[in-house]
Amino acid sequence: MADSEGTTPTTSTPNSIRIVEVGPRDGLQNERVRLNPAERIRLIERLVDAGVREVEVGSFVHPRWIPQMAGTDEVLRGLHRQEGVAYWALVPNRRGLDNALEAGAEHVAVFVSSSETHNRRNLNRSIDESIENVREVVSDARQEGLTVRGYISTVFGCPWEGDIDFDRVLDIARELFAMGVAEISFGDTTGMGTPYQVRDGMTRALDAFGPERVALHLHDTRGLAVANALLAVEAGVTTLDASIGGMGGCPYAAGASGNVGTEDLVHLLHATGRNTGIRLEDLLGISRSLEDEHGATLRSRYHAYSRAGHS
Ligand code: MG
Repeated sequence: MADSEGTTPTTSTPNSIRIVEVGPRDGLQNERVRLNPAERIRLIERLVDAGVREVEVGSFVHPRWIPQMAGTDEVLRGLHRQEGVAYWALVPNRRGLDNALEAGAEHVAVFVSSSETHNRRNLNRSIDESIENVREVVSDARQEGLTVRGYISTVFGCPWEGDIDFDRVLDIARELFAMGVAEISFGDTTGMGTPYQVRDGMTRALDAFGPERVALHLHDTRGLAVANALLAVEAGVTTLDASIGGMGGCPYAAGASGNVGTEDLVHLLHATGRNTGIRLEDLLGISRSLEDEHGATLRSRYHAYSRAGHS
């Protein structure tokens, strides 16, 4: 039987996994290196050439708060957009949505935390206040015909509050879906999740909302991102976020050392018999450029391995 060979997924597990590349936004916004809009366009286009079909291109937040994301409107306007590729832009508020619309965005993302303390530190308001803000943004975005993705952060633990009640996470998700959000990315923002916890949480989310509406956003803070990803995929998750080179922590959460590297996740998925449509060799070339041309400090293991001359 194929099951015993170890490289073929069981028939109940999905064979095709959708990767949402968040490096150009969630990655870069938390790194010291700055890429100008032209360089960010080049990065995004190379990722698409590598086979990425979903990419988060920037954030319409005021550059005073996140200078790395200055010129996201230029990025969105300057991209040579390819058929069949979704270019996501984060919109923190109504003004951000207006700017995204003006720049021609078709896919936008909104966010709320499942930890009251994290939400206050990140957004300076309560979760309920954030949900009301998001409700207005989603409603207006939907009226304009946009597709909206929701992020819920700290779902598997918060550095200030510790454990998060997953019932509360699911309640927030239900509210976002009721507004018209198309999918929700459940975020382990500071990498506190452990494999069986992630498997059980994602199983509940999948049971409640179905695989086409559930995504998982992992951080590799304590080295468990790949283990968590495998358990989640075995539980039926078919969409995972990842960041090229493992870029991106969280400026509001100490110890959030980076998103799971796209190279590491793609390697895991291919090594366990799944398809992503992404060419690992091309990703490694992009990581090398980020390091050599831009001085980025990258954390993905597969990148370090290939740099050491083994690839
Ligand atoms: Mg992240």
